Amino acid sequence: MRVLITGGAGFIGANLVRECERAGYECVVLDNLSTGRADNLEGTAARLVRGDVRSLDALARVAEDTDAVVHLAARGSVPRSIADPLVTHEVNAGGTLNVLEAARITNGQQVIVASSSSVYGANPELPKREAAATRPLSPYAASKLAGESYALAYGSSYGLPTLAFRFFNVFGQLQPAGHAYAAVIPAFVDAALRSTPLTVHGQGTQSRDFTHVSTVCRTILRALEERTSCPDPVNLAFGTKTSLLEVIELLGQELDVPIVVEHTDSRVGDVPHSQADHGLLDSLLPGITPKPFIDGLRETIAWMRSLESSESQTISLPKA
Ligand code: NAD
Repeated sequence: MRVLITGGAGFIGANLVRECERAGYECVVLDNLSTGRADNLEGTAARLVRGDVRSLDALARVAEDTDAVVHLAARGSVPRSIADPLVTHEVNAGGTLNVLEAARITNGQQVIVASSSSVYGANPELPKREAAATRPLSPYAASKLAGESYALAYGSSYGLPTLAFRFFNVFGQLQPAGHAYAAVIPAFVDAALRSTPLTVHGQGTQSRDFTHVSTVCRTILRALEERTSCPDPVNLAFGTKTSLLEVIELLGQELDVPIVVEHTDSRVGDVPHSQADHGLLDSLLPGITPKPFIDGLRETIAWMRSLESSESQTISLPKA
């Protein structure tokens, strides 16, 4: 089985390559290396094709001899999308449409698309059920909603086996800190390890359904193995609720150091709470046990400590 992983040189993608290879799959990665890194794939047998999901031709060429596609390439980050909405739309919405079209005109293979819990946005209902109204608060969220809608539309219009997973806050090894748009866990761990203050936007009472990357990759692999498709988007998280203040407390306990926190204004587009209803996921792929948050946090700390120096994971973000 040969699988195309767009964005496979990024955080989730490079972890997924390893998960797929352990299961005996051959991986082809299409990535423009805007936030991903070729060395994330070191030690794997993945074929890296440098290309852009905004090019249908490039996608069709690599999709041609594959049996499934996992589409992870995206321009991430809510604040980045607010600063630059048009490129976010071109990459996330247009790029997803290109991926689906490439699959349709090549092998009609299964396409798994990465959507995001940010699509729920201003809807305060908890836990987040897939049937709840979506109310995107940022261009990023709108672009992810457009992408998943295209995936579902390709399922109904062309019979393409599609599955749109709404990821919640994924964390773990290979997730970079040290840049302006870093996700909260690596940013916190990095600051704590350097003994610099942790920046918290707002009070820190906002909570997230953190999901370790190994759980996300195991779930995607199961969906590939079982060729799962679904006419509705599917939450990929397990209903946990951890506030940023709780993360900071756990970090202090794990590192056994006092943690200094600086509070700044809340960010535009941030949602106060995010927690998944996982009933649909359980019914489609029963029996997945998520890695407990504390275990994932310990592994993340160990990984960040193992980096030669925190400078080695500082990345720059070109315009894409
Ligand atoms: P990432 O930035 O590490 O990975 C994205 C990859 O896509 C990078 O390797 C990047 O170089 C590549 N890329 C970006 N633009 C591209 C383009 N135009 N053409 C080809 N490649 C391109 O991000 P990640 O955290 O691994 O996220 C993977 C997917 O999961 C994304 O679709 C993201 O929106 C989604 N997601 C992630 C989270 C999370 O918590 N990490 C939450 C919700 C959704």
